[in-house]
Amino acid sequence: MKRTKTLPQLLQPDLNVTSFRQLDPHALVNQGIRLLICDIDNTLVAYDDPDANRDVEAFLHTAKSAGLHTVLMSNNFPWRVERFARDLGLEKVYAFSMKPMPFSYRKACRDFGLKPGQAAILGDQLFTDTLGGNLAGVTTILSHPLVEKERADTKLLRFFERLAGRDLPHGRTLQAHSARKAEADWQPMGMEADRDTETEQDHPDPESCA
Ligand SMILES: [Mg+2]
Repeated sequence: MKRTKTLPQLLQPDLNVTSFRQLDPHALVNQGIRLLICDIDNTLVAYDDPDANRDVEAFLHTAKSAGLHTVLMSNNFPWRVERFARDLGLEKVYAFSMKPMPFSYRKACRDFGLKPGQAAILGDQLFTDTLGGNLAGVTTILSHPLVEKERADTKLLRFFERLAGRDLPHGRTLQAHSARKAEADWQPMGMEADRDTETEQDHPDPESCA
C-alpha cells in the first residue's frame, strides 16, 4: 500500500554537497538522470552576484558534455534569471518558479519529455528547492549556501531550516543519502500516474553522484 510522505521526509534531500563543484555530472548520468535543474541564488553564485563566473560556466559545460539537459529554475524575477543566463547557452530557464510548488519541476520534465525520476534539482534551500523537488518526485541535491549574506525572505526560511535540523557546516564531508526514492513505497502528492508507470531505472541511486 502506498503512502503519502510526511513533512520531515519531504525535507530530506537525496544527496548533500558542499557546493556544485563537488557534483559529478557524469555520475548523475550514470544513475539515469537526464535533466539537471539548477537553482541560482546561493547555489551557483551569491544571491547578489548578477553574472555567472568561470566555475559555473565550467560546471554547466561539463554537465552538457556529460549528456545532461541543464536548466535554471529560480524564484527570482525574470530579469535576474535572464541576465544570469545570458551567454550560458542553456536550453531553458524558469524564472519566478514558485518553488516549493511542484508544477515548475513537472513543467521542466515535460519540456524535455522526461519523467520526474529522470530529473534532479540542485539547490541550497530545504523549504524551496528540496521540498519542491520531493513533492515533484525528482532527485534532490542540497548544497550548502555559497555565502551567508542572503535576502530577508531567505533568512526567514533559514530559521525554519534550523528548526528542521539542518546542519551543514562549511567543509562538511560529502554525505550521500540512501536511495530512499528507489526503495520506499511512498509517492509524491499528485504523481500517482507517473509513479505507477516508472521503472527502477527511473530512480537512480544518488550515492555515487558526487
Ligand atoms: Mg537559492
